[in-house]
This record gives sequence, structure tokens and C-alpha cells, in this order.
Amino acid sequence: MQEALTYDDILLLPQYSDIRSRSEVDISTDLGKGLEIELPILSSPMDTITGLHMASSISHQGAGAIIHRYNTFQEQAAIIGKAVSIAEQHDKPHNIGFAVGLGSDVLDRVHVCLDAGATFVCVDVAHGHHVMMKEGLQNLRAIFGEKLHIMAGNVATLQAINDLADWGADSVRCNIGGGSICSTRVQTGHGHPGLQTIIDCAKTDRDVTIIADGGIRNSGDIVKALAAGADAVMLGSLLAGTRETPGEVFVDAKGRKYKTYRGMASKEAQINWRGKYSSFEGVSSTVPYRGKVRNVLVDLEKGIRSGLSYSGARSIEALQNNAKFVRQTSAGLGESRTHITSRKW
Ligand code: IMP
Repeated sequence: MQEALTYDDILLLPQYSDIRSRSEVDISTDLGKGLEIELPILSSPMDTITGLHMASSISHQGAGAIIHRYNTFQEQAAIIGKAVSIAEQHDKPHNIGFAVGLGSDVLDRVHVCLDAGATFVCVDVAHGHHVMMKEGLQNLRAIFGEKLHIMAGNVATLQAINDLADWGADSVRCNIGGGSICSTRVQTGHGHPGLQTIIDCAKTDRDVTIIADGGIRNSGDIVKALAAGADAVMLGSLLAGTRETPGEVFVDAKGRKYKTYRGMASKEAQINWRGKYSSFEGVSSTVPYRGKVRNVLVDLEKGIRSGLSYSGARSIEALQNNAKFVRQTSAGLGESRTHITSRKW
């Protein structure tokens, strides 16, 4: 049986660096067909992550946003229209895309959302290596032509990313079952550890870019994903609880503030968006309120720049060429985390 590693199993070896300042490091990334982002981060198309305010803020910071699809296509297009016109006020190019499923309204959604100003579409399916994805991608490509950037996923294997690329995807969300709110591996017994998925998918010889999606908990995980071959990461929990996520702030008896963060296949989310649930593969949770997403992104950006400089890399491509991975033991993992609070004095 093949061994499969994930983020905590490895570290990147520090290497000689002639980078004098983190500002010398370029962390922009080109996901193909004009989808270029200054910060290699995309916000996940979840109804507790990406609505109007997240899209406006995150695109202003140079990252990419994908408006969730758990609404009518008119509502989704209205959010896109407002987010785009905010971006235009700042005279900045924006990277605001939108998610679609594979239901009967797909073509309407794509038409109205592109008309509203979105720049890319994300075909958002839990198990993307599927005949319906094949038909959906081929259909979209035939109708909307070669210029449209089509993101698709999720997948967990090299065969799957190759197939999605052959069916028409320009970028692919890689990882099944690794999300913080995900219970797919528990419910179905299927999945593939997140970092190994990236290592395997990065062997593709197709013209396709890789998005590491799910299970990313800090800027160190982002650097590891990029080093393993990802072109960008997609974030849910790292953006959850911020002011710009959709949903209200709850205050408990002690005055602590929270927001909801939930899997889109959780019982709660399914009941909200389609009035019932079938099998569920996610959970709903509360996370501490964390203020402006801008501050979260600024901290992540600093960590990513610093990470590239530890590998002596001035760009993501250089990181991928230079990176040296080592396995760490559980004792090494204990040493890697701050451990002052667990020490017996
Ligand atoms: P996180 O960044 O670890 O919180 O993971 C976010 C990712 O989890 C999303 O981008 C999706 O790929 C995935 N996801 C969202 N909702 C669900 C769910 O209900 N079940 C399984 N995976 C989910």
C-alpha cells in the first residue's frame, strides 16, 4: 500500500538565501487565461465565507474570490455586480469568480454572472472525477469558448486532474476530504491526505494549474502546498469568523464574539439551501470573531514571503524548483509547535 503524507508530516529544509528583504519576494501567480493574482489565495465558495463583502475586500488585497452558489442566479449575479463595481471604483483589476454546480440552471448562471462582470467560473462538485463533470465541462467549453477561465474540482489523484484538464478545466481544486469542516473521509472512507494530493497532481503534464484546497491552517501550510506544486491555495477556515464573511456575529454570556462556519454538505447548510438533507459530509461550527479579513491576509502574506526567503526563493516557481522536503517524526512535530505551555517545570 502506498504511503501518503500531509502537511504536518514534512518540513522544508532552510537553505542559503541572498534575499535581504521580504519585499524582494514575488508571490504573484498566474492560474491561466488571465486569472493572475498578486497573493496566491482564493476564498472558498461557501455561504459562510464568500459573499459581497469578502469578495470586495479580498480582491482589493490582490487575492481571488469565488462567490458561492447557494442562492438564485439572480442573487448571485447581483452580488457579483456590486463587488465588481466596488473594485472598479478603486480602479483595480479584480479577480471575482463564481461557483456553479451541475444542475439544470448552470447555463443561466454562467450567462448572468459573466454579464455581471465575473472573470472566471468554478465548477464546484465534491467528487469532481465524475461523468457529470465530464459532460458539464465539455458543454461549458463548447458554449462559452476557449477564452473563459474554467476552474473545476475537487479531485484527489493525478488521473483525475489529467482528465479534468482534458475535459476543459484550466485550474483544478485538489484535495478530497481534508477540509476543517469536512467529514467525507469519516462518512465514506474515501480521501487522500492533502499534501500528497498536491505532490501527485503536480506530476501532471497537462496545461493546468493546481489549487490546494482544504486543510490549510496557517501560512506554513500555504508555503508547503506551494513548494509541493500548488499554484495557489483556497481557504475556508483561515478566513472564517472575519467581519467580511456572510452571517451575523453572536455574543455569549461572557461577551465573547463568534460567527458560524459550516461545510456546504453539512445538515444545516443543506436544510437552508434546499429545505432537506440527504447524506451529509460536513459539520457546522462556530469560530471566534476575528475582525477585518485584511489583517488576516496581511499576516498570511508576511508568512508566505518569509517562507519563500527561507528556501532562498524569489518566486513561487523558484520555491518549487529549490524546495527540499524532510519527513518529521511525531517528536519533531512536537518540537515544531510552540511548546512552552505544555512544558512541565
Ligand atoms: P478549510 O479551509 O480547511 O476550512 O476547507 C475548506 C474547503 O473544504 C472548501 O474549499 C471545500 O473544498 C471543502 N468543503 C466545504 N464544505 C464541505 C463539506 O461540507 N464537506 C466536505 N468538504 C467541504
